[in-house]
Amino acid sequence: MLHRYDTVIVGAGLAGMRAAVEAQAGGSCCVLTKVFPTRSHSGAAQGGIAAALGNEDEDDWTLHMFDTVKGSDYLGDQDAIEILVRAAPDAIIGLEHMGTPFSRTPAGRIAQREFGGHTRKRACYAADLTGHVILHTLYEQCLRHAVRFFPEFMVLALAIEEGACAGVVALDIATGELHTFRARAVILATGGYGRAFRISSNAHANTGDGLSVAARAGLPLEDMEFVQYHPTGLFPSGILVTEGARGEGGHILNGAGERLMERYAPKMMELAPRDVTSRAIQSEINEGRGIGGGAFVHLDIRHLGAEKIMKRLPQILDLALRFAGVDALREPIPIQPTAHYSMGGIPTDNDGRVRRDAAGAVVPGLYACGECACVSVHGANRLGCNSLLEAVVFGERAGRAACADLPRLGWAAFPPAAEAGVRGDLAALADGQGREPFARIRDDLQEGMQRNCGIFRSEGPLREQLDIIRRLKERFAAARLTDRGRRFNTELVEMIELRSLLDFSEIVVAGALARTESRGAHYRTDYPRRNDADWLRHSLAWTGPEGPVFDHVPVRITRYEPKERKY
Ligand SMILES: Cc1cc2nc3c(=O)[nH]c(=O)nc-3n(C[C@H](O)[C@H](O)[C@H](O)COP(=O)(O)OP(=O)(O)OC[C@H]3O[C@@H](n4cnc5c(N)ncnc54)[C@H](O)[C@@H]3O)c2cc1C
Repeated sequence: MLHRYDTVIVGAGLAGMRAAVEAQAGGSCCVLTKVFPTRSHSGAAQGGIAAALGNEDEDDWTLHMFDTVKGSDYLGDQDAIEILVRAAPDAIIGLEHMGTPFSRTPAGRIAQREFGGHTRKRACYAADLTGHVILHTLYEQCLRHAVRFFPEFMVLALAIEEGACAGVVALDIATGELHTFRARAVILATGGYGRAFRISSNAHANTGDGLSVAARAGLPLEDMEFVQYHPTGLFPSGILVTEGARGEGGHILNGAGERLMERYAPKMMELAPRDVTSRAIQSEINEGRGIGGGAFVHLDIRHLGAEKIMKRLPQILDLALRFAGVDALREPIPIQPTAHYSMGGIPTDNDGRVRRDAAGAVVPGLYACGECACVSVHGANRLGCNSLLEAVVFGERAGRAACADLPRLGWAAFPPAAEAGVRGDLAALADGQGREPFARIRDDLQEGMQRNCGIFRSEGPLREQLDIIRRLKERFAAARLTDRGRRFNTELVEMIELRSLLDFSEIVVAGALARTESRGAHYRTDYPRRNDADWLRHSLAWTGPEGPVFDHVPVRITRYEPKERKY
């Protein structure tokens, strides 16, 4: 079936829906989303959204900017970071005016709490349900503006003709039919890829589809080697316990009952940035100082008192009880680091226009924003609460840029064989001769990524992981779809998701192998120091027949020269 919209947005998280609120002003606009809009992973965000409102501490955007630059281990592009932090206060007020019910101070202002790597109370929150309330608010705004939604439509390919984006091809999961969406502007807002790892805080749908779709269209991906591990995932599932628990005063304890951060970040303690804290926890575990020598440590919030916990962290109480069987009012919570966030992604300029080479040339009609994009405001390590902010600020900018560009974009020629090509692709994928279930290939990928490309990396395991991925790709090509039904074929959906996981995991691992230094979340035990002389630059990776091919882009430094990072 053929559809025509001026702007097609892929993804209904904070980034996609914020973009939609903006883009609908310029013409017809629709949002395609693989899950129902309010089930997007943004809705799981607990802790908060950062802005230098100064409601609880004196604060201003320059402090927010410095914290973000330092947190990024100086890999963030400072012009983009300046845009982010300067826009933050208005973005929060804008969300409030749309109806977001933020928590309040006793004086009635938007309440703010501490968060890792931020030197001021800067996280605006709604208890520990911040993402949930913002997602619902934006959904209401989209409905109010009559944005058309296509829920459970999974985008499989970008249509690019003569270098310009002309639309997308999508699978209607409910019927199994393919649909072609012609568009003047396409905005990718498909979220992150935490599901490449066995222990992950991410929703099952976070399989990095947008990255794979872009890479398959011949576009580069930026800084994919930087994967954030959140320090406090529940043991054993990896489900997130918000950093807000530490922002409110929670302690991390090792097997000896010591506040282990004393050894790693004596100044900021539990509120050091995530890369530092996750490495600290993993080191304690690796050196046998986990609880009972096991693979977890404790997060203790008991001293905060029942009243504060129930008011500020109600979801954490619930999650700890349901998924770890622990009453957090009376017992410490077992935690371990968990794969959480992708700093890298589809390279864009500061208005969301997708860049296609190291010189910064853009693809007419194609935009990206939110976690799937790399603008890059997080560099080598994102600070908590800066991601919801990025989704909102750069979602708005991408939507506005698409609107502004529409008059000169016109309708690019649509590649006539786009839909047939996708159909042929799917048929070939489904028809392997083997019997292996796709789920087993996915488990092996996640297990290998966890073991060989995790918090601590080095050459041997990374090379091994590249071999594993190549073998997994062969197994994938031979595997066979057993469910041949059309309606709600979840095996088919999982097969396509697995293809995407395999596509970009290879780039993550090859990027980690190529980057012979340690910076932010990327830590090489064989190159433990940051190396600005060779590596103060972004990686761009293209998928080639022999594996990923790399180029590099300089970091844009406007205000703060790189210094050693201490907490
Ligand atoms: C548990 C958890 C807690 C977090 N807490 C915080 C926090 O407190 N503060 C903070 O700043 N950040 C937090 N983060 C990070 C933050 O939530 C995300 O980075 C951000 O919400 C991403 O928004 P997004 O709009 O880019 O993507 P998402 O919200 O992930 O949405 C992606 C959308 O893309 C759609 N999609 C994906 N693939 C396809 C496809 N092939 N076809 C069609 N649609 C597709 C999905 O259906 C979905 O609608 C947290 C993350 C997690 C996992």
